[in-house]
Amino acid sequence: MLNGRIKFAGTGNMRSFDLGNSSMLVRMSFGNVLVDCGYANYERMIKSKLIDEVEYLMITHLHGDHAGSIHPLLLYLRYQKNVRCKIIVPDNNFKKYLIEYFSFFMSDYTKYVEFVDLKHAPGVGFFETTGLHSNRIVSYAYTFRIGRRFVYYSGDLGDITATERFLQWVLNYNPGMQISDFLVLHETSFIERSGHTYYKDLMRLAEKYEVYAYHCDHRRAPKDCTLKFVADADK
Ligand SMILES: [Zn+2]
Ligand SMILES: [Zn+2]
Repeated sequence: MLNGRIKFAGTGNMRSFDLGNSSMLVRMSFGNVLVDCGYANYERMIKSKLIDEVEYLMITHLHGDHAGSIHPLLLYLRYQKNVRCKIIVPDNNFKKYLIEYFSFFMSDYTKYVEFVDLKHAPGVGFFETTGLHSNRIVSYAYTFRIGRRFVYYSGDLGDITATERFLQWVLNYNPGMQISDFLVLHETSFIERSGHTYYKDLMRLAEKYEVYAYHCDHRRAPKDCTLKFVADADK
């Protein structure tokens, strides 16, 4: 995608053992950023060698299909590459939250992790979506400026109106930006009211923006689904 600037490590959801969990590597000018690292992706990334490109990590939320391979990834980087994983955090709250999470399985996380403030990741932005995917679960959508393109990665998000409002806000506050500059990479579900974005709601967004869907088994899309899927595009 985007001339190889974006490569997905997996496109499925928590049940997708063969498609991997949704996760992408973005090649930014300051370095390569892996967004999410779910339980089914560690072996996949070793096989595809994508793991050797990981320099930075961002996590949308701590569900297993987004964060389940963090531990093996940290061990791989530390003991195979002799580097610490640079984790870009959207805000201090999420940093504290991750440190608490690491404390359950690492006595000293600083051996494996170096936190990077968002201001040292030029072109990267975020949109907090806490509670909009799952009750009380802290979550974020992330954005990446690549040339004139504005890439929006929804993370898991059960409320399409949040995405609509955010994209409109970006448009309003960035004079000169056009709808065609947006590349919307959005999670979807074929089941209604599942804490995920129902495909028919996403189809409405796709009437306005260039949208590619992920976090689903695209092979099981209903007949009336006209969405484009990351799984078909990212080859
Ligand atoms: Zn989730
Ligand atoms: Zn998920």
